Amino acid sequence: MEEMVARIKERDPEQREFHQAVEEVLQSVKPVLDQHLEFRQQAVLERITEPERIIIFRIPWMDDEGQVHVNRGFRVEMNSALGPYKGGLRFHNSVNLGIIKFLAFEQVFKNSLTTLSMGGGKGGADFDPKGRSDGEVMRFCQAFMAELFRHIGPNTDVPAGDIGVGAREIGYLFGMYKKLSNEFTGVLTGKSLGWGGSLIRPEATGYGVVYFASEMLGVYGDRLENKKCLISGSGNVAQFTAEKIIEFGGRVITLSDSSGYIYDEAGIDGEKLEYVKQLKNIRRGRISDYVEQYPEAVYTPADPGLDHNPLWMHPADCVFPCATQNEINRRDAQHLVDGGIRLVCEGANMPAMPEAIDIFHQEKVLFAPGKAANAGGVAVSGLEMAQNSMRISWPREEVDKRLKQIIKSIHTTCLDAAAKYGASGDYMAGANIAGFIKVVNAMLDQGL
Ligand code: GLU
Repeated sequence: MEEMVARIKERDPEQREFHQAVEEVLQSVKPVLDQHLEFRQQAVLERITEPERIIIFRIPWMDDEGQVHVNRGFRVEMNSALGPYKGGLRFHNSVNLGIIKFLAFEQVFKNSLTTLSMGGGKGGADFDPKGRSDGEVMRFCQAFMAELFRHIGPNTDVPAGDIGVGAREIGYLFGMYKKLSNEFTGVLTGKSLGWGGSLIRPEATGYGVVYFASEMLGVYGDRLENKKCLISGSGNVAQFTAEKIIEFGGRVITLSDSSGYIYDEAGIDGEKLEYVKQLKNIRRGRISDYVEQYPEAVYTPADPGLDHNPLWMHPADCVFPCATQNEINRRDAQHLVDGGIRLVCEGANMPAMPEAIDIFHQEKVLFAPGKAANAGGVAVSGLEMAQNSMRISWPREEVDKRLKQIIKSIHTTCLDAAAKYGASGDYMAGANIAGFIKVVNAMLDQGL
């Protein structure tokens, strides 16, 4: 196995996030490999770590001043053993092949855990919608889809949103797909309600994260009520994580964006959260504006010179990193532990670095990896696909009930798999093992 990881690193040395994700999964599944796959290990691992297909393309588009820009687009179709490739699109200037490959790899196991029939993929572009007009975003999305459309389809590959891709972008992408294919299909999820979207899809990732955290606390007869909670991020996942925590009686005291974070000791209540939603989703503003509206809160600008994030220094009970990958390092984890945390539940994909996770495990902090805890988003995407196929839409209660059931089942599956392979209580090991076994069995069944 070490040899395998070394070979992957040697082959694509710059893809650090991908190596990190692969190493984590392979470490966790070692007991499975040793028990069941001794003779086939290498072949299985080589296949599961190599995308089935990678598409890289040029995206030329024109800004409002008539200037032409060229961005790079990606779609990594990682694994289709369990169903059509499924996973979001990320528009952010940090996007590169290594990031998309790590996200696609994570997505394979996450989708496997949902119990629905979805393979794994991910895509995006090194385009930053921040500061761009609606017209510019529309032209960019159209240019992006002008190439991507030939590679996707409702039974082939079904993209959705991720960082930088929300309802607005999905609308423009869908419009262009429809023009080019001359078909009205469920080829994207996260669509608006009026034209094929599912109720609860916007809320699903955040709600699912909080349902998962409740399940974790429930094992100890505990609940989120009165818990002090730290959240990073202020986008879709952070907003609906906050909404559900507030509904469950917890106190959310932080939110952030790439420029800094706000700390509101009194707690962000429903009204304040509504302000954040307007600010971020409609006015597309910065979280720093929060303190102009609520001067009792404190804004701290991000300091790239610091080796830690001061957001994680506030004493709290529960922690929900909902911004991006690798946002909690060793020092942050130590600060969180010193602040008395009991639970970390990942809303983002891979926000905690491996050394941070080690600290959480050593200190007996309950830790849920994103591929289990944030699977509610893609799960409801799967439910959106099901509704589209049947040309019906379920009521809110029905979708929420199914989301809760799926999260409950992921929680149990993680604990059971961890216990079976000697890692009782380790959600990361459980998620990796259970996700991996289902995908590998399907791959072996389907032959080379
Ligand atoms: N981008 C989300 C994730 O990380 C959702 C993907 C989807 O709905 O396809 O799981």
